[in-house]
Amino acid sequence: MKKIAIVGGGVAGLAAAHRLQEEIQNNNAPFDCVLLEAGDRFGGKIATERFDGFIVERGPDSFISQKPWGVELCHKLGLGDQLIGTQKEHSQTFVYTGGKMVPMPEGLSLMVPTQFLPFVFSPLFSWPGKIRMGLDLFIPRRAGNGDESLASFVRRRLGREALVKMAEPMLAGIYSANPETMSLHSTFPMFAQTEAKYRSLILGMLARKRQVMLAGKAPKPVKPGPDSLFVTLRDGLDSLVNAAIEKSPDVTFRKGQKLAGIFRDGDQWKLSIEGDESLTADAVIVALPANTASGLLQPCVPDVAKRLEEIPYVSTAAVTLAYAQKEFSHPLRGFGFVVPRDEGLRITACTWTSSKYAGRAPDDHVLMRCYVGGGAGEETAHLDENELERIVRQDLLKSMNVRETPAFCKVYYNRKGNVQYQVGHSALVDSIDAALQSHPGLFLAGSAYRGIGIPDCILNGTRTAESVIQYLTK
Ligand SMILES: Cc1cc2nc3c(=O)[nH]c(=O)nc-3n(C[C@H](O)[C@H](O)[C@H](O)COP(=O)(O)OP(=O)(O)OC[C@H]3O[C@@H](n4cnc5c(N)ncnc54)[C@H](O)[C@@H]3O)c2cc1C
Repeated sequence: MKKIAIVGGGVAGLAAAHRLQEEIQNNNAPFDCVLLEAGDRFGGKIATERFDGFIVERGPDSFISQKPWGVELCHKLGLGDQLIGTQKEHSQTFVYTGGKMVPMPEGLSLMVPTQFLPFVFSPLFSWPGKIRMGLDLFIPRRAGNGDESLASFVRRRLGREALVKMAEPMLAGIYSANPETMSLHSTFPMFAQTEAKYRSLILGMLARKRQVMLAGKAPKPVKPGPDSLFVTLRDGLDSLVNAAIEKSPDVTFRKGQKLAGIFRDGDQWKLSIEGDESLTADAVIVALPANTASGLLQPCVPDVAKRLEEIPYVSTAAVTLAYAQKEFSHPLRGFGFVVPRDEGLRITACTWTSSKYAGRAPDDHVLMRCYVGGGAGEETAHLDENELERIVRQDLLKSMNVRETPAFCKVYYNRKGNVQYQVGHSALVDSIDAALQSHPGLFLAGSAYRGIGIPDCILNGTRTAESVIQYLTK
């Protein structure tokens, strides 16, 4: 029997465990596999609370369906019929600017205008801003193909206004990142690829739209799951966590097992667990945040640890508020709004959760979630709960004229919990992979490396498990 230890029960560790389960089940692989989780529950950043008819996500609330690995895993785990998309009737997103909610113009494809009229008539951008965005059609492509920041790229191609009103709140917001330091290649590589191929982003997006329309004339491949860019699970995202564990009966899942150290022991690895217990393994998947992994690996694998230390993390907090429907004056027709940095609010975005997804609140209540902190200013995320509630309610009053008292307000902190992919991130990850070659049997997985979204973490965990299978059966 080959022993495999997975450390960390977030979605990456769980995806690795499930892939190893498949190997044991389908190919009789002689693996003895254990997953160690420090906390008192599995799921890591994925955590769902249910009470009084509410489904409240503490961390992620959905995942993108265009990257298929999330939807595919749900199907494999028997959750296909629980996938739900966003509610079609509310699909508008707003930008809070100049003291008003301005709808995002139709036809914006990841901030690039692909429809002329809605863009021209949109009050979101000034005329000089619109003309500057249109200059993308004529600006030559950048020489060289090195990484650059999102801010530098957007300023160069579309101008400052596109950066301030769209790219920073919408795109950097997804990563809780500062666009001035955020890697374009590791977050939105398609922009760099589009520039390399078509020179202009607008021409590239139009060409892609044409291809999609032509493909639309051919019979459509059957796409599993709801037809929606973002999907979630009917009863909350932790259904994915529970199903991954339930459908991996040959893996031992142990919670309350905090890894305290990891050492080489001949051909094996020795893991010491807090409380004096230890175990040995032929292969170890460290599926932890890089800032935790670096400390644990420092004594035995300092070359890898040193590089992991270079991956920064920032703090964010999510503040969820519920209101009684009958007292609530705002119609919440949309998915919510984003807030450009210089609009005088401390919240960076607000999701109108009960409008975006069905079943998140009982019919007589509405549910919203506001975000603070991140790479462009994390101090707000360190305030205490009372102060955060006060700030958020003040911002909701200014932006949405919400005067009502919430039925509840819950603050969820992610202290140093948001990984930052900075310019040069993919070269750093390549160098980590190269350093790992000198430490056979040691593998890393998780959001720190090649994608932070749930589907990326699932792919990364699955691929890491495949590398382990190859290593142990070679
Ligand atoms: C607030 C927030 C909102 C997000 N929203 C979305 C979203 O809507 N859609 C989306 O796709 N992605 C979203 N993400 C990103 C995504 O949720 C994460 O990137 C992903 O869940 C990380 O998974 P992971 O397995 O890499 O790590 P984690 O989930 O961090 O799991 C690591 C696990 O390791 C455990 N651990 C730590 N130290 C030890 C130790 N010493 N020994 C043993 N175990 C240990 C932890 O307890 C944890 O369970 C969001 C992230 C955050 C923070």
